[in-house]
Amino acid sequence: MAGEPQADCLFCKIVAGEVPATIIRETETTVAFRDINPQAPTHVLVIPRVHYANAATLAIAEPGITADVLREAGEVAAQDKAESYRVVFNTGSGAGQTVFHAHAHVLAGRGLEWPPG
Ligand code: 5GP
Ligand code: ZN
Repeated sequence: MAGEPQADCLFCKIVAGEVPATIIRETETTVAFRDINPQAPTHVLVIPRVHYANAATLAIAEPGITADVLREAGEVAAQDKAESYRVVFNTGSGAGQTVFHAHAHVLAGRGLEWPPG
């Protein structure tokens, strides 16, 4: 069924507690944890507990949970005392997506160039 955990999905395993992660926030619908390969002093991934391949498919199926992910991105930045931050949803392998479970990257704590690479 749509949104159900996928056996081969790393982030579903983190949600289930089967793979360890440095979890910094949890809600009924989301989990936020530090990226294993940080690209900035704050580099946190906010994921929905439900499995969708990317942010757009999540938004179609679960608009409320998509809003929860965005709200939690702001809470993560506030928790790390970041006034400015960037939220990134890599979508598709050509854009650097490697884990096909929707996730927001929250980046902060250094100068963030615009336009990004
Ligand atoms: P993507 O490349 O799909 O946009 O983002 C996936 C992110 O997941 C990458 O930034 C990568 O460093 C991170 N990542 C991959 N494996 C793990 C893991 O086992 N634990 C954590 N905390 N992050 C991971
Ligand atoms: Zn998943």
